Amino acid sequence: MPAEPLPDAEIERVLVVTAHPDDVDFGSAGTIAMFTDAGIEVIYCICTDGDAGGFDLEFPRDQMAALRRAEQIEAAKRVGVHDVRFLGYPDGALVASMELRRDISRVIRQVQPQRMLIPSSERDYERIGRSHPDHRAAGDAALDAIYPDARNPFAHSILRLEEELEAWSVKEVWIMGGIAGHTLHYVDVTDTFDRKISALRAHESQTAHMDNLEEFVGNWLTAQGKTAGFAEGRKAESFLVISTP
Ligand SMILES: [Zn+2]
Repeated sequence: MPAEPLPDAEIERVLVVTAHPDDVDFGSAGTIAMFTDAGIEVIYCICTDGDAGGFDLEFPRDQMAALRRAEQIEAAKRVGVHDVRFLGYPDGALVASMELRRDISRVIRQVQPQRMLIPSSERDYERIGRSHPDHRAAGDAALDAIYPDARNPFAHSILRLEEELEAWSVKEVWIMGGIAGHTLHYVDVTDTFDRKISALRAHESQTAHMDNLEEFVGNWLTAQGKTAGFAEGRKAESFLVISTP
């Protein structure tokens, strides 16, 4: 059985790790808005700059990274997040390397979150776009950074010896979108749905061509609300909660 989430009252800081700008907004912006409304500080750590994204073949590729960083920073603001950190790995080539684990461990020790949201490291054979190789790599490296790296003072020793970052244990992890075959935790995001759509619209290079974005995302979240057993028409985001004390 998956863990029951800790009460939000026990959570001061949430760190979100994703592969690309826009991942957090598709997966969990409604939930993030609920957290920030409740006074929880949320920090984003984005592994790549999304520089292989976009659809406009004429747009200069060397400007894509800066554009996507700016879009993510704006999207974050729309759900109450004002601290966005980019690790700068190349889009499309992310691997769960020791360097990536160290870099995520560094941010964990800097931020000291009680809860983290990360992508799934597993393939989703029903929704192949969800298990982009970068997403799986980010999820894998993030979970390895949470356990054992960030909490082990002897892992990535330069963090402690040269950067004075002490070990930190994250109490729980929420895997965005969950994993098939597990009991999931559903968050009712009906009241923050408009802000989620606004955050998604901030990623103009990715979503400007999606005329049906609101309908598409709304139908998907309403279906999840139904699975969750919420009242008719309520919308939900889903997570697999893992206890990592
Ligand atoms: Zn992505």
